[in-house]
Amino acid sequence: MQSRTHQTGALAGLIAMTMLTNQPIPNGATVLVALIANVVGSLLPDLDQAGNRLWDLLPGGNVIGKVFRNLFLSHRTISHSLLGFGIAYLINDWIIRMIFNGELVNSQIVLGSLLIGYGSHIFLDFLTEEGVPLLFPIKWKFRIFRINSGGWVENWIIFPLLVVAIIWMLFFKTKTL
Ligand SMILES: [Zn+2]
Repeated sequence: MQSRTHQTGALAGLIAMTMLTNQPIPNGATVLVALIANVVGSLLPDLDQAGNRLWDLLPGGNVIGKVFRNLFLSHRTISHSLLGFGIAYLINDWIIRMIFNGELVNSQIVLGSLLIGYGSHIFLDFLTEEGVPLLFPIKWKFRIFRINSGGWVENWIIFPLLVVAIIWMLFFKTKTL
């Protein structure tokens, strides 16, 4: 799926989880960092693609991206699996706690937000024709619906539905809480 679908799905997942778990809204700094972490998390599994937007943020990112892609051998392997999710959890937990070790930003909320982004990415790719190797290194691909990545179903049904879900949760559900 495309980056914008993943980013929108991650945000929808974050808002839904915040509501379902009745999380009190944290301070502004935590909200801001958590939103950025949510976007980063939603793009992390596709780091095995040189065209990933995260590489554009780094100087010389295209070159690093190509090296990285070769390391992964092919698209959608370990980064789209439960094992990859576990590794992302451990690495990001360490990084986030190292950066945000003060009182101002709640590192647990930031980590949770990033992992929701990561998890929502795998879930959305699970809906596509390509499928996801959830149990990597076992090569079984898991998929439902067989949607074409970047096709009309993604652009005209999935993406708009996610946007509507976000608006609905923000404007109608929050009022009834
Ligand atoms: Zn992906």
